Amino acid sequence: MSNLINTTLLIIGGGPGGYVAAIRAGQLGIPTVLVEGGVLGGTCLNIGCIPSKALIHVAEQFHALQGYAGDSPLGIRAQAPELDLDRSIAWKDAIVKKLTTGIGSLLKKHKVTVVQGWAHIIDGKTVDVDPVVKGKAGAPQRIRCEHLLLATGSEPVALPFMPFGGPVISSTEALSPRTLPKSLAIVGAGYIGLELGTVYRKLGVKVDVIEAQDRILPAYDADLVKPVHAALKSLGMGLHLQTQVLGLSDDGKGLRIQSPKAEERILAAQSILVAVGRRPRSRGFGLSSLMLDMDGLAVRVDEHCRTSMNGVWAIGDLTGEPMLAHRAMAQGECVAEQIAGHTRQFVPAAIPAVCFTDPEIVTAGLSPQQAATAGLDAIEGVFPLAANGRAMTLESTDGFVRVVARRDNHLILGWQAVGRGVSEFSAAFGQSIELGARLEDVGHTIHAHPTQGEAIQEAALRALGQALHI
Ligand SMILES: Cc1cc2nc3c(=O)[nH]c(=O)nc-3n(C[C@H](O)[C@H](O)[C@H](O)COP(=O)(O)OP(=O)(O)OC[C@H]3O[C@@H](n4cnc5c(N)ncnc54)[C@H](O)[C@@H]3O)c2cc1C
Repeated sequence: MSNLINTTLLIIGGGPGGYVAAIRAGQLGIPTVLVEGGVLGGTCLNIGCIPSKALIHVAEQFHALQGYAGDSPLGIRAQAPELDLDRSIAWKDAIVKKLTTGIGSLLKKHKVTVVQGWAHIIDGKTVDVDPVVKGKAGAPQRIRCEHLLLATGSEPVALPFMPFGGPVISSTEALSPRTLPKSLAIVGAGYIGLELGTVYRKLGVKVDVIEAQDRILPAYDADLVKPVHAALKSLGMGLHLQTQVLGLSDDGKGLRIQSPKAEERILAAQSILVAVGRRPRSRGFGLSSLMLDMDGLAVRVDEHCRTSMNGVWAIGDLTGEPMLAHRAMAQGECVAEQIAGHTRQFVPAAIPAVCFTDPEIVTAGLSPQQAATAGLDAIEGVFPLAANGRAMTLESTDGFVRVVARRDNHLILGWQAVGRGVSEFSAAFGQSIELGARLEDVGHTIHAHPTQGEAIQEAALRALGQALHI
């Protein structure tokens, strides 16, 4: 093949895992090639984290203004707001564009060669790149490397009896609507379904969520979910728990659903968002030829992000749960440093997780139940936001902060919080666990007043039996 590139590190996939690995490798002077078939930034920047949070912001602002069109306790009165959806989507797209272009510049700055096209694995050291990108035929390319890093991410899971198409959409389409449907049914009450459901509901769409389990957000503990459930109900969202989706109605204008105690019925819906999970993207590009050890569709990796083949590494959603952008980034950085000869492992003490509903949920480390299951004798401290002055001034008193610590030495094992804006607590939560802080360390750290963050300090004090404001 005429177009042959030789490199030390070849990365397949330019999402948060792949691009961060490439930037760090570039900083460390490792000759690096990154192959991306879609748009740099991957799921996260283009059709995931960033666009969803942009639309959440649009919906929050619109909803808040609607609140002022009636009788507001704040004494603000406004006219009923209107939404220019095209402009909202253009604003969201501009943020995405700015960020993805920025990634391109960072890669260039760090001398990473970006090859546009779909990679096909030939063997553990050779990859061919399909020259056809967006209908344009380029030159065929073969890349040989010493290290191959797989960072191909994940894709939405479809329901076999209700494939994507027509009224049945995935989160990708839900993030770029041309018009808003009158009604939206969401299959699955995980974080992606509920974040997008909240957006659509706040923009005035009738939203119904159908979940097979007996509660929303089944991955989170019940106490954390209660304020979110109550908020969704008061927003007027239909929550159909313990309910099975059987398929589309014959006329395609609704869903056939069934709960344990009721007859099958049709739930009218103009659009149906299937948000039942994501699966690692491990098929369709020759990965199976490497015969790597797998966990189902996920590539199995050790604590160094090494696969079962020497010189082949894997990171991010391709390696399974938790499928989170910050995990992918941390793994990417870790792999680049190891290739540069640094001694690194990917063994985080905690990977924070955030659900950007209203109120938000944030967790890091162990919940009380998880600590008990692990056989740890733990104590906990809960501080309600209702007792926090700043939360009152922000009209956001629904929620709490909880800390979990070992009874014997007060080492912090985990944090959970639910409340407006508490996603920002993830930094404090992650740091205290990673640095091995004890309850006394956090309880005796001065937290600025008045902030919602004081609830973090108070939760630690409460676990010690020393809370001051409750
Ligand atoms: C709606 C939504 C909201 C989300 N919100 C959050 C959030 O708030 N916080 C959070 O942490 N996570 C969130 N996520 C998850 C997050 O997007 C993923 O965990 C993250 O993007 C994974 O990064 P990655 O690098 O592993 O893969 P990806 O971001 O999926 O990137 C993989 C890249 O590889 C490319 N690729 C795949 N195969 C090939 C090939 N053969 N050749 C060339 N290129 C290839 C793809 O085009 C893609 O660009 C969200 C996801 C969705 C869908």
